[in-house]
Amino acid sequence: MTASGSSPDTRAIVLDIEGTTTPISFVSQTLFPYARRHLRQYLEQHDDDAAWAALAERFRREHRADREAGADVPPWTEGSERDSIAAYAGWLMDRDRKSPALKELQGRIWEEGYRQGELRGAVFPDVAAAFERWTRAGRALAIFSSGSVLAQQWLFRSTPDGDLTVFLRSYFDTAVGSKADAASYARIAETMRLPAGAILFVSDVVPELDAAAAAGMRTTLSIRPGNAAQPRDHGHPIVSGFDEIP
Ligand SMILES: [Mg+2]
Repeated sequence: MTASGSSPDTRAIVLDIEGTTTPISFVSQTLFPYARRHLRQYLEQHDDDAAWAALAERFRREHRADREAGADVPPWTEGSERDSIAAYAGWLMDRDRKSPALKELQGRIWEEGYRQGELRGAVFPDVAAAFERWTRAGRALAIFSSGSVLAQQWLFRSTPDGDLTVFLRSYFDTAVGSKADAASYARIAETMRLPAGAILFVSDVVPELDAAAAAGMRTTLSIRPGNAAQPRDHGHPIVSGFDEIP
């Protein structure tokens, strides 16, 4: 094994996004503010869509539960659902609530932004060259991130270095399981039809690497500018860029 955790018999590389391929700040400084800025406009253009009613109902139910729990939610005005949802979604964003309805709404707003070319995916400068190098070496590349598969694809399709999805064979989100659960990595290896030991997983979060290692994968810790400090003595090889992974 080399210092990077890769080895000549590494047949696939599975990559985390935030803190690994992409600056952590992309989400907080680009994606979240974009969704907030375009919230009202999105609602004005889409709240007649067939798919909208089900999402609106989820917001209404979550709002009712919050109100019943005594939270100081903005009022829900019957007859002006658009205003009610805009106010409540803003309130959820302020609290960084892990609300599935909010997550779906943000995903839809981002998708439209990517589609219209207003949003572009961000990757570190060494990513495109590494994708090409690893692909040339016959390695399959995949993503495992908590963002939805759709959002992952949009991000890599629209980078300043071009469409990087041409290099990516598989995408996994939390539908496969938690990133801190070894079983998720076993499922990924199974789906990729490879022994776990032939797969290298790269992430900026030690518990995720621990889980991947428990499933038998090779691991590498990604140290990028802006990443959170990680516990010491974790035993995983460390890189500060993909240039260090041959
Ligand atoms: Mg990460």
